[in-house]
Amino acid sequence: MTTRDVYDVVIIGSGVGGGAVARQLAGTAARVLILERGPVLPREPENWSPESVFVDLRYRSAETWTSGERRFRPGQYYFVGGHTKFYGTAMFRFREQDFGALEHEDGVSPAWPISYGDLEPWYAQAEHLFGVRGQAGLDPTEPPRGAPYEHAPIPHEPVLADIARRLEAQGLKPFPMPAAVDFGPGGRCQRCGTCDAFPCRIDAKGDAETCLVRPALLQPNVQLTSEAYVDRLITDDTGRRIVAAEIIERGVKRRIRGGLFVLSAGAVNSAALLQRSATARHPRGLANSSDVVGRHFMNHNCTGLMALHPVKRNHTRFPKTLSINDCYFSDLEGKGPPLGNLQLLGKLSEPILRGAMPAWTPRVLRQWVAEHSVDWYVMSEDLPHRDSTVRVNTDGTIDLRWHRTNMGAHRKWVRTASRIIQRTGYPIVLAKPFTMDTPSHQCGTVRFGNDPATSALDPLCKAWDHENLYVVDASFFPSSAAVNPALTIAAQALRVGHHLRTEVLQ
Ligand SMILES: Cc1cc2nc3c(=O)[nH]c(=O)nc-3n(C[C@H](O)[C@H](O)[C@H](O)COP(=O)(O)OP(=O)(O)OC[C@H]3O[C@@H](n4cnc5c(N)ncnc54)[C@H](O)[C@@H]3O)c2cc1C
Repeated sequence: MTTRDVYDVVIIGSGVGGGAVARQLAGTAARVLILERGPVLPREPENWSPESVFVDLRYRSAETWTSGERRFRPGQYYFVGGHTKFYGTAMFRFREQDFGALEHEDGVSPAWPISYGDLEPWYAQAEHLFGVRGQAGLDPTEPPRGAPYEHAPIPHEPVLADIARRLEAQGLKPFPMPAAVDFGPGGRCQRCGTCDAFPCRIDAKGDAETCLVRPALLQPNVQLTSEAYVDRLITDDTGRRIVAAEIIERGVKRRIRGGLFVLSAGAVNSAALLQRSATARHPRGLANSSDVVGRHFMNHNCTGLMALHPVKRNHTRFPKTLSINDCYFSDLEGKGPPLGNLQLLGKLSEPILRGAMPAWTPRVLRQWVAEHSVDWYVMSEDLPHRDSTVRVNTDGTIDLRWHRTNMGAHRKWVRTASRIIQRTGYPIVLAKPFTMDTPSHQCGTVRFGNDPATSALDPLCKAWDHENLYVVDASFFPSSAAVNPALTIAAQALRVGHHLRTEVLQ
């Protein structure tokens, strides 16, 4: 080991959580190292090719996970910037009520140890850093904001503007989806027709690499080592302090020592890493005296809907501009448990439909469907279940078990959403549920809370069991809410990063 292997802060993972902490610590006196298992994602023509992304799975990790006897290749992406390199740029704040206990069909969605008010300033900072555009005041479930959005929303293209009018005619309250895209006059976005699930070749997408990691690296105190897989964390003899991360860098094993460790490898990999780091003193893994690490995995209940019009073609180039939350807390009559959010999905194309439609479907039919469809994403809350687990198999691979919750409410929401969409003039609506093979909204596996007996992290995401370990990716979520997670991960990580800068590293 050399002195170059000793840092004040070691951040594991360069996604939203890790990137936001790095951004907060940039320009301070602390020597900060980000360790990232993946490379920088290459800019290449394949970035925007549905064939490469969806058929060849060019960017998807080659690893396989198990779920009991079943083996599958999960929708995991390991690059600098993490999953945001592929995300759909929908940047929602959770609703104020999502931070309290909320009654659902299958039970109570637990309260968070912090309130919406605690995160509001950090939501604002996250929106600023990601360049989020939106319009406040239209979504009836929207939480209070200190200030309007800095950037105007992305306007609907004609097909979608017509749908928005037809939704309003039904008495609904459609609103422009908050999006992190450098759009409009002088902006980088070329409306390439991809975006959701594709990397952006021209950096128009506000992702964790462009908005957090790269700006942090402009400061001399922050460094990044990519293609460095963190295998385990090492503690001192007391077991209270983490002293090193054991990494495998291009086949070579070495230790990186640090004063503070900020884990942000994503909800599945952070839980796995803590379990891989088990010792005689911590037989269930680090940060796990409560036995919650690797439990309560959540992933949202999601279904894709394809709305088809027999004649009208949909040539929309930027499809993710519209959402409704009218059934976020109850059904259309204002009765019953929460149903969820409805938002537009990235535009489906023929190669994408190859995996989604039966193999016998002729190409010409898939092409016709892709040209005529408007594509939607129906999302409902997934409740934390103790037996929804991430575990490490003896061969080192990951085993994921997902006990679905709230599926009755989700199915009701899919039926309701289909009727709403049909009434906008699209008589055929086809549904395709998402499974755990696509753990895009993974969260909850290292939950934070007020009680060390039932949570792994305190309200500032510090491990109760260790003096110098923080976990800031989506694993800290005690509940999943029913809107997209990235902005909430960013807000809490900025809050934790600020705390480290002003209270811990002084
Ligand atoms: C196709 C797709 C579309 C999405 N669309 C949206 C959307 O529109 N809006 C939204 O809010 N959310 C969206 N999401 C979800 C969102 O991208 C994630 O919730 C968010 O990026 C998670 O951030 P994170 O920091 O928790 O983890 P990650 O982004 O997973 O970051 C973890 C990082 O750690 C690295 N890592 C993992 N293990 C190790 C290890 N052992 N050693 C070193 N490094 C490691 C990974 O390579 C990765 O870079 C989408 C996700 C996908 C896949």
